[in-house]
Amino acid sequence: MDYSHVRATDPAVADAIADETDRQRETLSMIASENHASKAVVEAQGSVLTNKYAEGYPGERYYAGCEFADVVEDLAVERARDLWGAEHVNVQPHSGSQANMAVYFAVLDPGDRILSLELEHGGHLSHGHPANFAGQLFDVEHYRVDPETGYLDYEGLAATADEFDPDAIVSGFSAYPRRVDWERIDAVADAVDAYHVADIAHITGLVAAGVHPSPVGVADFVTGSTHKTIRAGRGGIVMCGEEHADAVDNAVFPGVQGGPLMHNVAGKAVGFREALDPSFTEYAEGVVENARTLAETLADHGLSVVSGGTDTHIVLVDLRDSHPDLSGGDAEAALERTGIVLNGNTVPGETRSPFDPSGIRAGTAALTTRGFDANDMETVGDLIARVLDAPEDAAVRDEVSEAVDELCAAHPLYE
Ligand SMILES: *Cc1c(COP(=O)(O)O)cnc(C)c1O
Repeated sequence: MDYSHVRATDPAVADAIADETDRQRETLSMIASENHASKAVVEAQGSVLTNKYAEGYPGERYYAGCEFADVVEDLAVERARDLWGAEHVNVQPHSGSQANMAVYFAVLDPGDRILSLELEHGGHLSHGHPANFAGQLFDVEHYRVDPETGYLDYEGLAATADEFDPDAIVSGFSAYPRRVDWERIDAVADAVDAYHVADIAHITGLVAAGVHPSPVGVADFVTGSTHKTIRAGRGGIVMCGEEHADAVDNAVFPGVQGGPLMHNVAGKAVGFREALDPSFTEYAEGVVENARTLAETLADHGLSVVSGGTDTHIVLVDLRDSHPDLSGGDAEAALERTGIVLNGNTVPGETRSPFDPSGIRAGTAALTTRGFDANDMETVGDLIARVLDAPEDAAVRDEVSEAVDELCAAHPLYE
């Protein structure tokens, strides 16, 4: 990619972009929410569509000159419908959080009750954390995973729903490695007459490829991010049945946003087109296979994998049994020094703090994009275990760094 114009105008920013490109090339991106968008997606996101105001929706804009913005948004919507099979799609949310905000505003009033998974058990800030708008505007209660098994506690969810009488139940998670039984959660929502909002931010790509069951047609609303496993332009998406189409569209604009980021909508359209190619199914299958291999490898090294494995791109490790003196934050820092980039994460039954939790979370979406296969993942798992066993050992750090360099060189990025 050529940033010659940025370089001519602003060398400081050009340097940072070049450094970031090198960082992505020379490290293993294992942050579960990240991926490497294609050059085509990046190009579309960097296009002159950024200049266009297109408040409204295709065919009904508040400004003149929207004919090509309409083309782009119609393509994004059409392709999203093909990918996920939703009746109605809104591709304008600036982010996944904004998509959730729009759905809440479409059907809830301030003070209404939301039941969602606790953040420390794998939920998301936008599901009602006190530091987030959702926690400040709504009355929020949480369900949990079973701390013994790491699986969702569906019975506890039903019991809490009975007691709390929520107006909406939010499913879909940030750090839950297992398949979600959407029907079971939907039955609970029906029983207490609550809306069911399924937030598939992390697993959009896995759902589109059919390697994870889909909540579309089950939940009342499906929200998501478009830059995680689906690997399209950055932003959010809302899907729903026709009966909620107007409420959702009005909630996105003018409810919670102004003009859409049309360059990002273009990035979504291009990424969705890529995901409609049969090769994307292979990619998504590879993502899950790689995560399973990583989980098995880490378990073979004596690490405690939450829920005993994974059905998705996420591997969550609880360090308390194997490395009681190593926090998730320290593990993250030690791994980063070797070029393995992932994050410290809370685990079910957390006993440290969210700022320095007891676990680490790894994802395989970005490495699979680079062509990593199961053999490579075994190598990566071995390297992670070596670092965790000797986080302060300079010789281990140097050897692992060298192995990371070799893996990166074997899987070039943005050449
Ligand atoms: C990533 C994520 C979001 C949205 O995040 P943004 O950064 O706002 O795009 C929403 N819900 C869940 C469960 C997520 O993991």
